[in-house]
Amino acid sequence: MGVSIKSVGIMVFSKNLDAHRPAYIDAKTTQTLTRGDVYTQSLRLAWSLRNTLKQKPGMTMAIFSPNSITWPILLLGGIAAGLRITTINTSYTPNELRHQLEDSGAFHIFTHPTLVEIVVAALKSMKVSDIEIQNRVILLPGLIQLSNSENKHLHFNNLLGPNQLETEESFNGSASDDTVFLCYSSGTTGKSKGVELTHHGVVSVLCLARFRFGYINSTDAMLLSFLPFFHVYGLVKLLLSPFFAGCPQVIMSGFLPEDFCACIERYKITVSLIVPPVLVVLANHPVSAAPIGKDLIMAVHRRWEKRGTDVKIIQGWGLTETSPTCTAQKLEDFPAKIGSVGGLLAGLEAQLVKDNGIDDADEGEPGEIWIKGPNVMKGYLNNPDATRNAITPDGWLKTGDIAVVDKDGDFTILDRKKELIKYKGFQGDCELEIYCVFIPFIQHLIQVAPAELEDILLSHPKIVDAGVIGVWSENEATEFPRAYVVPVLTCVDRETLSKEIQIWFQSQVARHKYLRGGVVVIDAIPKSASGKILRKTLRELYKAGADIS
Ligand code: AMP
Repeated sequence: MGVSIKSVGIMVFSKNLDAHRPAYIDAKTTQTLTRGDVYTQSLRLAWSLRNTLKQKPGMTMAIFSPNSITWPILLLGGIAAGLRITTINTSYTPNELRHQLEDSGAFHIFTHPTLVEIVVAALKSMKVSDIEIQNRVILLPGLIQLSNSENKHLHFNNLLGPNQLETEESFNGSASDDTVFLCYSSGTTGKSKGVELTHHGVVSVLCLARFRFGYINSTDAMLLSFLPFFHVYGLVKLLLSPFFAGCPQVIMSGFLPEDFCACIERYKITVSLIVPPVLVVLANHPVSAAPIGKDLIMAVHRRWEKRGTDVKIIQGWGLTETSPTCTAQKLEDFPAKIGSVGGLLAGLEAQLVKDNGIDDADEGEPGEIWIKGPNVMKGYLNNPDATRNAITPDGWLKTGDIAVVDKDGDFTILDRKKELIKYKGFQGDCELEIYCVFIPFIQHLIQVAPAELEDILLSHPKIVDAGVIGVWSENEATEFPRAYVVPVLTCVDRETLSKEIQIWFQSQVARHKYLRGGVVVIDAIPKSASGKILRKTLRELYKAGADIS
């Protein structure tokens, strides 16, 4: 057993502490945590996790909260105590939450007062007693009035009370392969699974990305973050990576165009990480004529060029299973290489594999990207079959993304082989004024798994079969889930059924899973001989406008 230190917490803290430098700033209240505050508060929380809440290394805690400056303390405190952390999509219903709590085995749930009712409903449906619920739910600071019963829960601030600093768990040597994050992803197929990301993997991404993302190392760098921290991207690229590099960040609890612009001006923001729908807003095109891809990126660039601001928009690529970054463009690549997602981070290997899953794609030919490197997940939690399907015996992760690579080693993503639907995760289309920003552009949205939506559709008494695909909306630069359903024989009014399903579905799932792409009632779902839904056929029918009878 080696002794190299690989704990995420130790890596992040050890980088030149600079205690008085701001680390995290609340966009609204300007409340600021310095690097020193983050260090002491995290280690105090770690002490309470160990001594008050009796948690032991390897146990799992859950975070179910909108973005706030409490997040880094939870994250680093949990890691310092040696816990695994599972982060939960804040738009989940009690049923969706229950699945993740049961699957991850999380005991304590740190939640915001606005979400506490959902947590309590989920725990009650798991037959957890009232007393245990009070012990498991820990309320984060929030400006809302709580009822008496809600006030009985433990409060986060009390856990920071004792002035005792825990010694961080080191995850030396072989323990560096212990899991630190359990993020949920459907992978290439099926339902949501717990992706086991390790200390070694996350530390590798932090180190490798520092070379590529030089713009967060400069002393005047200031980052604006609004993408959800519950996604691996928020955890690693927003909460950890800039802190590791010494870059302060301003935290918004969500994306509102006016606030985004006001923050850029107020805090002299130099970099933000965004998603395609934000580009549509920033380009300020009438929604009905919004361009996508290269045109959209250049429209944003030109809009600020006219105001004398050099906005650079670059792109990267990665997935939950790779902790998450695999490729990234350099700032100097803009605008010559718009459309590409850049080259591999140092230390990673990739191959493009033909459809047969055996041969390498020829030069210039598209293929599925397979990735090998320290950042690849350990596997899916308690799911050896799904892990075997995703990772080959010699360690290649099949990403489900189809790409080509050019002579410089830069990848361009062309298509997705996997089932995944990516939804933007928030709404917004307002008039903007922007001053100065570099915008690395990472297409990184909230996941929707078709298999999960199909299961829910099949639970409706008037549906005998269902298939779901993602359809692209140019106006909003995102994908929407579109459902095809086969009705029971007695159902004659297809239009009414379609409307009924739309409305009913909204009571079953989180907002990002709503069937915004439509519900189409058809006679049969196209299937392969082995009974697999032929989503490709559905997509082709949709594209040809031939999916509505
Ligand atoms: P997630 O696991 O939620 O991070 O989703 C990862 C998936 O998002 C990838 O496998 C891709 O299908 C998609 N994705 C990520 N970055 C890009 C990009 N730059 N361009 C196109 N698709 C992307």
